[in-house]
Amino acid sequence: MAKERKPNSRVSGVSQADAVSADEGLQPTIAGLERLIMSRNLFERTLHGLATRSANWRESAAIWAGSLIGDESQVLKVYFHHELCDDKGGPLSLELTEEAKFTLYETLRRESLKLVGMIHTHPKDWVDLSLVDQGNQLCSRIGFWSLVVPWYARKPWELSSIGVHIRSDIGWYRLTPDEVIQHVIISGE
Ligand SMILES: [Zn+2]
Repeated sequence: MAKERKPNSRVSGVSQADAVSADEGLQPTIAGLERLIMSRNLFERTLHGLATRSANWRESAAIWAGSLIGDESQVLKVYFHHELCDDKGGPLSLELTEEAKFTLYETLRRESLKLVGMIHTHPKDWVDLSLVDQGNQLCSRIGFWSLVVPWYARKPWELSSIGVHIRSDIGWYRLTPDEVIQHVIISGE
């Protein structure tokens, strides 16, 4: 969700300045060797699905599931929000119902898949996580990935324009361009 400048009632009372000073000296970082790995086919299938659903006017999102082995998060499957439920996608927002979320958890449990990350679109080139995005409770595991694709996932699809974030023990961390190259591996077919 891209409502970055709107005040969020749930955190009213905590100003941006407070949040920054409270975090001083304790900034999130990428801990070490975490890697997000997927085939080019799955990467492109995901972005194609997002672009189609976004249709140049609304946000869309998908969830990646797969295996977690050591520091490696391997994406094996993609689940689009609009296929899981009515995502109520709008220009700056979308939803995943609680019911859809728990149905997905059950599917993943049956198939022995783990939640790896999520990916969603923003309307312009701003690909940080909004306050709403940061508060997303799909998965609170350290090492969970959250990617934000600009321009409603219109082509060209370049990793360098995508916001790549990882959950650390003290909050979300956005990888630098160099870190994206090191930690996000899109391979093969
Ligand atoms: Zn967002």
